[in-house]
Amino acid sequence: MSHLTINLTLEEIYDLAKTALLSQGANEENAAAIANTVTIAERDGAISHGLFRIPGYIVGLQSKKVVGTATPEIEEVTPIIFRCDAKNGYAPLTHEHCLPPLIDAAKKFGLAAVAIQNSHHFAALWPEVEKMSEAGLIGLTTVSYLPWVAPAGGKTPIFGTNPMAFSWPRAGKNPVVIDMATSSMAMGEVMIAARDGYEVPLGTGLSESGELTTDAAEIVKGVLLPFGGHKGSALALMVELLSGPLVGETFSYETQERDKAEEGPARGGQFILAISPDILSGKNTSEQTDRFFEKYDAIEGARTPGARRHKNRENSGPRSVNADLVKTIEQLRT
Ligand code: NDP
Repeated sequence: MSHLTINLTLEEIYDLAKTALLSQGANEENAAAIANTVTIAERDGAISHGLFRIPGYIVGLQSKKVVGTATPEIEEVTPIIFRCDAKNGYAPLTHEHCLPPLIDAAKKFGLAAVAIQNSHHFAALWPEVEKMSEAGLIGLTTVSYLPWVAPAGGKTPIFGTNPMAFSWPRAGKNPVVIDMATSSMAMGEVMIAARDGYEVPLGTGLSESGELTTDAAEIVKGVLLPFGGHKGSALALMVELLSGPLVGETFSYETQERDKAEEGPARGGQFILAISPDILSGKNTSEQTDRFFEKYDAIEGARTPGARRHKNRENSGPRSVNADLVKTIEQLRT
């Protein structure tokens, strides 16, 4: 794929994504929800989860592995516990369905959780947690995927890239949003580096023969490593447990056992927790946290997680998109 880019407005990005998904079997609700997720990723500069993902979303629709007309079903297990069957659909519509009752319950009872099952999550996690913080809540979510990451000290993959996202609400300000893979690098980023022929830092992963390498294409064929040695490896393990057995879903290796990778993104689970800091603490936490973040922001060289994306968001102008990718998606729009 060449490095040539073209400029597209956010509306054009949304329309390109949505019309391609509609033409490949997604219904209006699913196509709109996915196109929105892809557009806000491009808007925020998270390009590995923007239009880059559309061909992958479409592979899942074409193979019928993912149901483009799925309507998620939510069960209220207790007043604060929800179970959501995504019905083999893509995650964005599931989030549109399950976040409002989760948010209402957490605002009423102080905390609430949802166990999502049979979902195909192929996106970044911050949209879910930001939504909860817009309602004054802390959001926490985890997802596991296919086993691409070896535990610290090993060469055999057992973890997914296992992202987790956390968001803290701030009255009148953007929330503080941490959204990170527990692998040294998200697989999407390694794939983009492989596509564009860039090297990745040593320690990102191992080649097929188990050697450390900076060649992204070799790592795509081999195995990723967790970030931060044994500590990142421990967090990846936590994400496996939260996104698998806790929500009645699969570990990454079990996901792989039932998955046909060539047919599109894998099916799995997601854990989402919402907490009201005001109800839990019995206080209004705004002033205290504002004082903390004033101190934090005053530290030279430091910035809060999420600030880069929120800064990108202030620009409502066109985004620079890989020209070959746009051509590929246009061709998929039959
Ligand atoms: P990054 O390493 O780019 O960023 C991780 C976090 O650190 C972000 O919150 C980021 O904020 C913050 N951050 C980055 N630099 C700094 C800094 N200098 N100071 C303070 N904070 C900083 O993310 P990853 O590559 O690990 O993950 C990329 C995406 O991939 C995530 O959105 C994740 O959800 C997604 N993903 C999805 C998977 C799935 O199965 N659906 C699997 C794996 C990953 P900021 O955004 O502002 O830069």
